[in-house]
Order: sequence, then structure tokens, then C-alpha cells
Amino acid sequence: MPNEEKVQELFKRLQEGALAFRDSETYKKFLLFQKNFWPYSFNNQMLIYIQLWMDKKIQPTFVAGFRTWQEEFGRYVKRGEKGIAILAPRITTFNYVTTHFTWHGEDVEIVMRLDQLEAFRKNRPGGTYKGIPLADVLDAYDKEATYSKGSGVIGFMVVYVFDVSQTEGRAFTPPRITTLLETATVPEKLITSIINIAKQSEDVVVNLDGEMFSEGMMGYYVPSERTIAIRRGVSTDQKFKTLLHELAHHFVKKAKLKLQTDQEELVAESVAFIASDHVGLDTTQYSIGYVASWTPEAETFDKMSSAIYELSKQMIKFLDRCGDVLEKPDTEVR
Ligand SMILES: [Zn+2]
Repeated sequence: MPNEEKVQELFKRLQEGALAFRDSETYKKFLLFQKNFWPYSFNNQMLIYIQLWMDKKIQPTFVAGFRTWQEEFGRYVKRGEKGIAILAPRITTFNYVTTHFTWHGEDVEIVMRLDQLEAFRKNRPGGTYKGIPLADVLDAYDKEATYSKGSGVIGFMVVYVFDVSQTEGRAFTPPRITTLLETATVPEKLITSIINIAKQSEDVVVNLDGEMFSEGMMGYYVPSERTIAIRRGVSTDQKFKTLLHELAHHFVKKAKLKLQTDQEELVAESVAFIASDHVGLDTTQYSIGYVASWTPEAETFDKMSSAIYELSKQMIKFLDRCGDVLEKPDTEVR
């Protein structure tokens, strides 16, 4: 299959994969799987998950390219194993030409790709370039032209990676992920630290003695006042989970993401879930329900998934700072 078709096929699979995520168990599994695959873009994480877990029921642990397995890990891809197709940006170097001139009393800078300028010079089409008559632009280039090089993404190509289970050779231990908590419960001083750092670095005030408006409500965030309220008298673990959820709402607002209410709830809960798992808190009781807006439409899906991805990274960084008050368990960092 030609590369371009294969790229299109992968994008289609991404959209179909989004449909399966409407099932909350599948979605939770995906969120848990993600933590081992941070170095990959969200799209590629999904492609790995779809092709390994959904197609073959192989729980992905670690993937690498054919040569990386060989050169860095002393392992070889087994005969007959098919690679997992992921997308890599195609980056090319372009020659650019810059010129300056005055247009209606204003200094204008124009940067154009050299091949484009040459085509204009040759064909002399009429019309305008960025609102300026092309003839004037070409005159300006005749007087002054500075050449430079720059790179840009011009599309995607398909590359293949292999799961550790598809390889053999030298013994391999997947890199361990650092966790903040040694035990399955959250120490009270981590909560105190989160509250302090939320105040210092986010200007968010947390009230642990909150009055709630309804039965099942555990907390809320008021963006205009930058305050978080947590239900009075709940367990430390519950405080922690709710804090993360409400902080995630704060990060959504701070990033000026325009999400519908149910979308924002899914994002906040997913971010809290990923961050809880990252610190080592048992996440099995998390319920991330069916969300109607989790649609396979490329635009919505992309917006939400990249929000979850970016905000989780932000939240984990935030928590790592808060965790400085804890004694660190013996950890390896990849
Ligand atoms: Zn919420």
C-alpha cells in the first residue's frame, strides 16, 4: 500500500478507536496503558494501543523500532512478526527568502519559500500576496532578498515499532515508572503540600471544610474566585482525588480550553485518574462514565484527547513538586 494511503488508513483507525473508548472499562485501560508511553504523541499512543491490545490482546509494555531493539537492547524482532504502524512527521528543509519594504506607510516583512518566489517570477501571475499586489512584492524582492533555511512539517509517514513480546535476545526489564507513594494511601502531609503549592504557584485557595449543595457532591471549583471547596469530613484519599479533579478544572480554565460541560468533566476526571495512578494510588474505584460527547469526530476527539494529555503532564509536574515533602521510595528514572 502506498505510504499516503497507509497514513490515511491510520488516521481512520484513530477515529474508529475513539468509538471503543465510549466503553468506560476500555477507556480506563487505555489511560493506564498510557503512562508507559509518554514519549509518544497521543495519536501514536492510541495507534499502539489499538493494534496491540484491541487487535491482538497483547498488553503493551514497551515498544521500540527494529534497529533500536538491536542496537540498544541486544534483542531481535522474531521472524514473521508484523510491526505496529505509527505516524512520524515528515520534516523537510526549505529555502526561504525575506524582503522588506514600505506599504501604505507601514514597514512590511515578507518571507516566502524560494521555490514559490521563483514560480511567481517566472509566471508573473496577477493578484495579490497577503493582500499586497504581487507586482509590488516582486519589485521589493528585486531590490532586497535575504536567503535563509528553515524546516517544516510537510505531512506524515508510517514507521513501525515492535512490542517487547515480539522480540527475543538479551534479558530485558522495562523501565520502571517513578511513583510518589509507597503505600496505597495518601499521607496527610501531601494534601497540605498540595494546598500550599496551589496557593503559591496557581493562586488557588483550597477550603477543606466545604459545604456542599447536594448529596453526592465531593467538591467544586469557582474559577472567578480561584477557590476549591472539598466536602467537610471526607477521607484523605477522597480529599486527594477530589483535589486533583478540581485542580484539573482550574487547569482547563487556565488553558482557556473551550469545552462543553460534559466534555470538561471527562477531561477533569481522566486527568485526576492518570495523576492518581502516577503517584501510586489505587485507581480501581474510579468511575469514568459513558460520555456522550466522546465522539469519533476527528475535531472533538483530537481536542479532548490532547487536553487530557497536556493537562495530565501539567498535573504530574505539579504533583512531583508537592511530593518533595515526602520521603522518596527507591526509584529509577528512565
Ligand atoms: Zn467536575
